[in-house]
Amino acid sequence: MLRLQCPVQNYAWGRKPDGGGGKRGSEVAALAAGAGIEVDPEKPYAELWMGTHPSGPATVLGVENTTLSHWLSTHPSALGDAQQYFGDDIPFLFKVLSVGTALSIQSHPDKALAQKLHAKRPDVYKDDNHKPEMAIALTDFEALCGFVEHDELVEALRSVPELKSVVGEAAAAAVEASPSKAALKAAFSALMTADASTVATAIQVMTKRLLSERRVLTEKEKLVLRLNEQYPLDVGVLSAFFFNLVTLKPGQAVYLAANVPHAYVSGELVECMATSDNVIRAGLTPKLRDTSVLCESLTYSQGPPEILEGTPSTSRTWTVTYSPPFDEFEVLRIRIPGTTRPLGLQEAIPASPGPQILLVREGQGRAFTRNPPRADADPKVELQEVELRKGGVVFIPANTPFMVEALNVGVEAWLATVNERVYKQGARTKAAAVEREGQLSWVFWFALGLLLVLLWAMATNNLPALQRELNKWASFGAPDAAHVRPT
Ligand SMILES: [Zn+2]
Repeated sequence: MLRLQCPVQNYAWGRKPDGGGGKRGSEVAALAAGAGIEVDPEKPYAELWMGTHPSGPATVLGVENTTLSHWLSTHPSALGDAQQYFGDDIPFLFKVLSVGTALSIQSHPDKALAQKLHAKRPDVYKDDNHKPEMAIALTDFEALCGFVEHDELVEALRSVPELKSVVGEAAAAAVEASPSKAALKAAFSALMTADASTVATAIQVMTKRLLSERRVLTEKEKLVLRLNEQYPLDVGVLSAFFFNLVTLKPGQAVYLAANVPHAYVSGELVECMATSDNVIRAGLTPKLRDTSVLCESLTYSQGPPEILEGTPSTSRTWTVTYSPPFDEFEVLRIRIPGTTRPLGLQEAIPASPGPQILLVREGQGRAFTRNPPRADADPKVELQEVELRKGGVVFIPANTPFMVEALNVGVEAWLATVNERVYKQGARTKAAAVEREGQLSWVFWFALGLLLVLLWAMATNNLPALQRELNKWASFGAPDAAHVRPT
């Protein structure tokens, strides 16, 4: 096991370390402080990155200036079976996010589009990989995810005249008339490409109207007012009416496939994704907008996203698993309560065929493995036992079973790992190949036997006799000519 030092990102939408203005402080800043990183009270702390992506690579503690990805290049066995599926790198990027103000309206390209975008604009699209992602709430967490159902959109266009005025009468009527993807795409594209002054006027009129309403505003209406405070007169404010507003409780998760629009709004979360940093933005951002690429690439499927609750492990006591339908990753939460007994409670984590990354979110404990150290291991770097404290991040090489033990206060740790289904699928593919081989060999031996009989018959002048025998076999079961002949 290796201890990692992981970088933080101070994006503007993050939270200050102490929260400020009665707000909750940044979890990312608290984790960084726990890991011994000096925290600047004036800066927003947005993301903690645990992985090998070049825009924020983790380094290995105990060896000077060695990134995890460099260490892996000299210790490829640490990737285990995962290497045959994903190549010479960890396939996932593990993160913690502290969302103070909304992130941009964004989507992530699929693999084919990522390759195209990266080739054309490597300065904006940093790699050629897709970026399916999953967000697990640590606190109450709000997000906009995917398009609302058709009925809800029709209702929004009716009840928010300012939205309808930007979308345009014709596009709005087309949505009302049909739940088709084409109508949705046309209406959404009309909004996102409307000129800035039209959008600004509509938002001003809407805000004034909502603030003077003598009724309780809907959650969506309250949200657009908040978004307008954060990103005044931005088209992203109006686009919120097109998206599902999702509110997660701690321990609930959503996952986002490629080409699904979303924006995280507020809260603290654990996030995991395929190793990539490709974001197509179109609103609520000072960064570059690529509106036409976004509008063209979305899938336009409608309806609320699936919420994952975390599946309790059948074989372990303190573990729940969040398994999205993506190959690159799944995430386990290991939460072991404290005890007053001298020995802490333990959870055994079985060996994984691929690499894993463990983050300590709360509490204290230790992780240890009984695997014998490799002959060439540097005992200062590759540890048999690691102390677990808030902010600590540990890399666990493939095929390393380990124990997590809680000390008095208990411990909460999060483990990112390759989705188990990859190895199961791999095993199924292998089993199918073996079966096919078995069938092939049966056909081979049968044909060889037949050939030998034929050669024997020719060599011993028994060919006519063999032909008579074969004819008899061929007519076996066929109706006897004598029985069909009319009498
Ligand atoms: Zn995203």
